[in-house]
Amino acid sequence: MNGLIEKLDLQDVLCGVNLKTQSNNLEDIYSELYSRPECKAEREELEKRLYEYFDSLELPDTPTVYDFLVLSMTKKDVIATFNWDPLLIQAYERCSEFTTNLPNMLFLHGNVGVGHCSKDILRGKKGLVCPICCEPFQPTNLLYPITKKNYRNDDFISKNWDDVEKHISESYMLTIFGYSAPSSDKEAVSLLKKAWEKSGAKKFGELSIIDKDEEVKGKWVDFIVPFRYHYQYVENFFDSYLGELPRRSCEAFFACSENQRAMIPDKGFKEGMTWRDIETTIRELLIEEDNTPQGESYPSHYNVTK
Ligand SMILES: [Zn+2]
Repeated sequence: MNGLIEKLDLQDVLCGVNLKTQSNNLEDIYSELYSRPECKAEREELEKRLYEYFDSLELPDTPTVYDFLVLSMTKKDVIATFNWDPLLIQAYERCSEFTTNLPNMLFLHGNVGVGHCSKDILRGKKGLVCPICCEPFQPTNLLYPITKKNYRNDDFISKNWDDVEKHISESYMLTIFGYSAPSSDKEAVSLLKKAWEKSGAKKFGELSIIDKDEEVKGKWVDFIVPFRYHYQYVENFFDSYLGELPRRSCEAFFACSENQRAMIPDKGFKEGMTWRDIETTIRELLIEEDNTPQGESYPSHYNVTK
């Protein structure tokens, strides 16, 4: 959020406003515009320009960490993102060419790539048509950065929060990837924490934090403390459970920690893999998934057989 106005060349939007804040942080600037009714036009222009910027972002053709992330999970998993940009959705779309057994996605601050039908409570890629009423999915609102965010003002965002709380409260493993828990998101962090505490994962589950900045680990200390012996901190996605044990992180972790079956290292994703390498890496996993009867767990894949 720091310097974003300059980075995106949005100074002209604000040239007629005498800002009281000295900060160059978008959240501070936006919060001030939001609190001053006379700045409504500037605020709406800023919203429009931010939306257009994020909407214009596109993944390169080569595999990105978004693709590895999407392919590292299956449909019983969930990715909940705070990102406004459509990159995860673009990754999801191209990863669907390998398999449709992919994680569910939730958008906790809205997303420029997602549309929804508020009547039928359905969502899909923006531009597609609601299969029930045949009307085009409407763009979702973005939750812009005000100091006191209200997750309940918008139906779409509110539903995504209900879903994330439910999923986390039923989860066995939780990974926090590149989210530094800014102090302005205190409320969000406390909602996530409450749900995680409900999960019972305290006893058996595992929390992972992936972040280049080790200081971020300290910000999650409230999450970590009750799970002292059950957390992993890594700097790089490829060193995480998801990167090392793609599509079986829960099964393989469980087999190792509860059934004492040692892990076989080096079968997961590696940085720099091509699409062909990825296909080779997940081929056997996809066959196992196809051969697993519904309701049963997938073979752990990354552990020695006893
Ligand atoms: Zn509809």
